[in-house]
Amino acid sequence: QPTIGILALQGAFDAHARMLQSLGATTVLVRKPEQLATIDGLIIPGGESTTFLKHLERAGFFDVLAEFTRTKPTFGTCAGVILMAKTVLSPTQKSLGVLDIAIERNAYGRQNDSRILEAETSLPGGPIEMVYIRAPRITEMGPGVEVLAEREGSPTLVRQGHLLAATFHPELSTDPRVHQLFLDLVKSGRN
Ligand code: GLN
Repeated sequence: QPTIGILALQGAFDAHARMLQSLGATTVLVRKPEQLATIDGLIIPGGESTTFLKHLERAGFFDVLAEFTRTKPTFGTCAGVILMAKTVLSPTQKSLGVLDIAIERNAYGRQNDSRILEAETSLPGGPIEMVYIRAPRITEMGPGVEVLAEREGSPTLVRQGHLLAATFHPELSTDPRVHQLFLDLVKSGRN
């Protein structure tokens, strides 16, 4: 079984760890750049992307993480997707720039700010529950990005080679399919 790191500088990492453990993976909470060398894949969880950036820069972590995400399986949820995106809007902010999308922060009006929806997905097994918390919206995508689910016509679950991204929080639902997909991605990369 692969070892999956969960970036634990800030934000919601416990539910990710529980979900991965239930699927048989070993998890490690990543708080130092040198830990990246010990893992097969990384989850960048939700939280507040600006706070993540502050922690990453303070810990001299940013460049090492950027290098890791260029080749190693990485799964971002919500703020994690914002960190991975090539372009961040409203307001613009620094990012790792590995995932070929533009993303708008806090893109849903106050009323729709946080909610639970169900939507079709191309993952086998029928519609998927999506928990949105002050979610961003993917507004543009490059040709290498595959859409696996949408919300009101905007992609919410996407894959680009070794990268997976969900603007919602699959770790807060009981459906393990998105995490399973990430584990499959990690395993296929190790063969
Ligand atoms: N609104 C947060 C941000 O802009 C993301 C919210 C989340 O991760 N649930 O960084």
